[in-house]
Amino acid sequence: MAGATLIRNADWVVLWDAAAQRHAYARGVDMLIRDGAIVAIGPHDPMARGDAAVIDGAGMLLMPGLVNVHTHPTTEPGFRGVREDHGVPEQQMTGLFERSQSMRLDAAGRDAAMRLAYAELMSAGVTSVVDLSAPFEGWMDVMRESGLRVWVGPGYASARWGMSAPQTVEWHWDPAAGRRGFQAAQAIMDEAERDLSGRLSGIVFPAQIDTVEEDLLRDSIALAEATGRPFTTHIAQAVVEVREMIRRHGTTPIQWAGGLGLLTPRSILGHAIFTDDHPSIGWHGSRDVALMAERGAAVAHCPSPFARYGEHLKHFGRYGDAGVRMALGTDVAPHNLIEEMRLALLLARNAAHDLSTADTASVFHAGTVGGADALGRSDLGRLAVGAKADCVLVDLGHPLMAPPRDPLRSLVFHAADRAVRHVFVGGNAIYANGRPVGLDVSEAAGILAQSQAKMLRDAAGHDYRGRDGDAIAPLSLGFI
Ligand SMILES: [Zn+2]
Repeated sequence: MAGATLIRNADWVVLWDAAAQRHAYARGVDMLIRDGAIVAIGPHDPMARGDAAVIDGAGMLLMPGLVNVHTHPTTEPGFRGVREDHGVPEQQMTGLFERSQSMRLDAAGRDAAMRLAYAELMSAGVTSVVDLSAPFEGWMDVMRESGLRVWVGPGYASARWGMSAPQTVEWHWDPAAGRRGFQAAQAIMDEAERDLSGRLSGIVFPAQIDTVEEDLLRDSIALAEATGRPFTTHIAQAVVEVREMIRRHGTTPIQWAGGLGLLTPRSILGHAIFTDDHPSIGWHGSRDVALMAERGAAVAHCPSPFARYGEHLKHFGRYGDAGVRMALGTDVAPHNLIEEMRLALLLARNAAHDLSTADTASVFHAGTVGGADALGRSDLGRLAVGAKADCVLVDLGHPLMAPPRDPLRSLVFHAADRAVRHVFVGGNAIYANGRPVGLDVSEAAGILAQSQAKMLRDAAGHDYRGRDGDAIAPLSLGFI
């Protein structure tokens, strides 16, 4: 049985103000943890120790663990050094379709990628993560080892993307494969929810709005409703996809999804960027953002991959003002949710030409409570009695935090992961002094390097022009 833990006299704390439904600062706070939950939190009492193990909070900011609602840990680290400058002009600059056709990590590479990604997630203060992956043997073992709280999202689809020319994406349909994937996903989610750790749960994940047939999408949301699980899919994530959905259905993917009943309070939309009124779409009307708000759907806002090729959601502040529930994710490596907060804020201000459209508090809210609420978990993303003891200690003495006049601003704009010292899930330390506690990453970098090299060589056998990975995505500098 886990005993009590006391985080003692934290200099600064981000507390949850339930009456105001927002985070607030407090100074000099003790937090008592028992059986994985917060049982008391309040002003420091020098007399209170009891039988609790004590963690010294002096010189620290105590804050809730971050909630990352959209990641692909088993693939994205394999694209480090490959995708940052890669894009296809004929596809409005996204490189998504070209890469997904030509480049695939082997099983050892996916395991190694996942280990590195999970280490990266916790190093930047994440305690809850939605892992959206093609399932493979051993996937859940790494989740267990990590100590993270994980939503297991086994992806399935009725079609695969293919390209025969840079200006053409084709959808190769195999509805039976989609059904088999759906069955397999249910077995995996059931297994996750039986896990004795209590930290694993399922999220229903038909992979993309354009690759899953209509009946399977209907069955997917019905499963989510029947089991109480959250639901997610990629939607309005590429101009190519939106144009294709308009060609098929005469309407935008968001409005088509609305008609199918896919926009609900349990739906998390990745990434809902290319709405009807987005300048890169220019569809008539301006209905998509309001529709997402009316139906209570949440958006998994992941600015990095899109900003890299010149696009962004327009914009975080406007969606929030319209009533869309905003949450944050890391759709690519690095899996640094603090840096995504900063980028979300900067892009919103630039899109709006208005500093007041987003601030540190609003992006921190999205990265904590916003994500937790989207997952239907009012006991996560906040420090309050009754909430899970998922929390982070940030070193206020780190030079990039100095002077720590406003610790969240220091963290979001300056220090990011560099000042994260300790991360706890359910009161258990999963990351301490710069290292994962349970997760073994000792071999991962070497294995991933080998697997990536093989992936880049093998690309020649899958690419529509027979190019290897070095031809598709050349190095940033040539050699003398
Ligand atoms: Zn994604």
